[in-house]
Formats: sequence, C-alpha cells, structure tokens
Amino acid sequence: MSSISEMMTRRARLLGPNVSTFYDEPLHLVRGDGVWVWDAAGRKYLDCYNNVPHVGHCHPRVVEAICKQAGTFNSHTRYLHDGILDYVERLTATFNSDISTAIMTCTGSEANDIALRMAEAVTGKRGVIATDHTYHGNTTVVAQLSATNPPTTGDGAHVRHVPAPDSYRPLGGVAGMPHAQAFADKVQEAIDDLNASGIGFSALILCPAFLNEGFPMLEAGWLTPALDVVRKAGGLFIADEVQPGFARNGEAFWGHQRIKAEPDIVTMGKPMGNGHPVAAVATTAGIMATFRNTFRYFNTFGGNPVSCAAAMAVLDVIEDENLQENARIVGAHARAGLDKLAQKHECIGDVRGYGLFFGAELVIDRTTKAPATQHAIRVSNEMRKRGVLMNKLGVHYNTLKIRPPMPFSIADADFMLATLDATLDHLGPAFD
Ligand code: PMP
Repeated sequence: MSSISEMMTRRARLLGPNVSTFYDEPLHLVRGDGVWVWDAAGRKYLDCYNNVPHVGHCHPRVVEAICKQAGTFNSHTRYLHDGILDYVERLTATFNSDISTAIMTCTGSEANDIALRMAEAVTGKRGVIATDHTYHGNTTVVAQLSATNPPTTGDGAHVRHVPAPDSYRPLGGVAGMPHAQAFADKVQEAIDDLNASGIGFSALILCPAFLNEGFPMLEAGWLTPALDVVRKAGGLFIADEVQPGFARNGEAFWGHQRIKAEPDIVTMGKPMGNGHPVAAVATTAGIMATFRNTFRYFNTFGGNPVSCAAAMAVLDVIEDENLQENARIVGAHARAGLDKLAQKHECIGDVRGYGLFFGAELVIDRTTKAPATQHAIRVSNEMRKRGVLMNKLGVHYNTLKIRPPMPFSIADADFMLATLDATLDHLGPAFD
C-alpha cells in the first residue's frame, strides 16, 4: 500500500499541480457501503458529505442494474433503445410543469452548457445572469459564469453577477420578502445593463437552493419577484438542480418545487446515477424543438443503456426506500441538534438547511457576524480525524456543509452531532 505522501507525489507528477483534495491529510478511500466509507488502512468514516452516492455507497440495486445492462448491451446513442425513453418518461413525470423532454449527458457541466444554448436559441440573445458566488461547471462557456474561478481574461462580456442571497446577512437588511425584492432589483439592474450594452438578456441561471452560496433559508415564493422580472424581460429561468435535486430537501423532489419557482429548463447530474456519470437537461417540448432545430446536438455516451439503467435504479430506490421522507425527518432532527449545539458553542452563528443539506455558519463574534473561516477549516479537519467527513462552503467558506447519502439515519445524525460537540469543545473558541 502506498503512503499518502507517495500518492500525493504521484498525483502531482501524473495529474499536474493544484489538483484539489480534501483535508490537510488527504483521504485514500477504498470501499463504501451505505453511509460509511473505509480508507486503505481499514479505518471507517461516517460520510456526511457525499451527494454523489445518493442512495448510499454501492447500493446493491444500482450495482446490479449497471452490471446487468453492461452484460447485455451498451453502445453509443444512435440506436433505438427503450432505456432512455422509459427513463425520460419517468423523470419528466416528477415535474409539476409542462417540462416533458430531456437530453441526457454525462456531466452537470454539459447539461448547463446545453441549457445556455437552449436559452440562446429561444431568445436570440446571449446575456446570462448568475450569482456572484456560484459554480455551474467546467466547460469554457459555463466556467465563465463562475465568480469563484473566473477565466484569466476576466468574466465573459455577456455575464452579469447578482449578489448571492444570504438569509443571515440579507441584502437590504431585512430577511424574507424584502430581501427577495432587493434581489429582484439586482436582477433588473443586470438585465438593464445587458440591454444597454447591446448584448441582450437570455437567461437567469440559479441553483434554486443556492447550495454553493451557503444554502440560505428562503421561504416558498422567495424567487417570485426575480422571476417576474426575468419573464417580463423575455428571458428564461434555468434551475440548476445538480445539487438539490432527487428528493434531498425532504419537502419536494426538486429544489425549485420547494421554493415554488417554475423553471423553463432544469439541469441535473451528481446524484442521478449514484456515482455513474449521468446527467441531463430537461425542458418543455417547445424549447426542445427550438434547440434541436437551431443546433444539431449529439452526445456519444449521454443516455447510453448502462447510464439509463443506473439512473432508473436510483429513482426506484428513492421511491421504494422512502428516501424523501427520510431526508425530511432526519434533516429536521439534525438541525434541531445543531440548534442545541449553538446554545453551547458561541462560534455557531447560524444553523440552516432543508432536508439532508444543512449546516452551521461559524463566526468569530455573533454580534458582528465576522466569519470564522479558518475555524471552519480546523473543524472539518478535526472531524475527519475523529471519523466524520464534512466540509465547508458559502460566500465566506465558513459554513459547515453536511450533505450525506440519503439513507442517513437518526443514529448517524446523533453520531455526527456528538462528534461535532466534542470537536468544538476540543478546539475552543473560534479565532481566525
Ligand atoms: N452545477 C452545480 C451547482 C454544481 O455544484 C456542479 C458541480 N459541483 C456542477 C453544476 C457541475 O457538475 P459536473 O461536475 O457534473 O460537471
């Protein structure tokens, strides 16, 4: 077995520099089962971070579906196959709008790339609005939306950023609908600017749960003022469900359904195949026809029979194991536990989340809300040492990000909470 430092050296030599890993002491994981993973030395960790193995690491039904289809037939996507038709029919039945068609891809980035081209085909414009702390993927076009890793030549001329919603420090000072209106005003300003520059407005793209931005608490209807502005300007709303989709929020199957915001286009990926690389962009028949007739699109691997079998098995497991309800119940229990920890540990400034995406924002001082970014790094490293995997995100990277596989139980949540309590005791007051 290679040591961690040998593997790091080999990685740098073979994969190049600056390839990200988690934790001061990177993990070498070799096995997973349900919500647990094991490292090469045989040590077990509770996985409170991974949404890719959505229905649990190595879920036997997904593994079996992949093996069965891989042993029967797999090829590119130019032959007729029931797998993709059955899947798209089942997937689109989860929407409560007239979204009834989809293109299957291999990554969320590709799905977002297509979504932007769909909006361009429909509106004849290219201007895109995103938040100033988002990530929508790694293709050249999609990377231009990312305020966190902008291209060397700066943001794309057609991109405008609006401030990421933050329920703890709301734009305009008042949370709830005044914050929603302040956000909508920023979207209007961005549209006006795109129009004034001659670029024109095509689409607003948002994760409807703003997960990379730090998952603010936003009530149903919060996005309505912004979407009214978008529709009045003739633009489309793209909901990037790469993270919140597939029942994770516990209240609805999709993030946009929880917040009651109807998208024109929905993109998805990460949890969709439980680790198998499958993603999709879904939209109305009208938008799809405009896109297909404007651009010819082909994807060799997207929606191949094995990917569809994996994705279908994920939907089966979510349904048969009641995972949406589990997310609601266990998520509420875990957040109540975090609220309790906040009574004891001054560094917890805010507890947030929905279903099985939740966490605590760490601050140096509750009055000033000064972010405890370094403390959040110390906490996630110490949790890893104690056998619990989580991370941090948000505008100030000081919010603990807890996003476990969906079969996460009350007992798992209690173990995580007890470990966090001991970690915060051990580390003492936050300092940066
Ligand atoms: N959208 C969002 C909101 C994401 O968080 C990510 C990945 N972190 C992507 C898109 C890109 O997905 P992928 O890595 O599958 O291309």
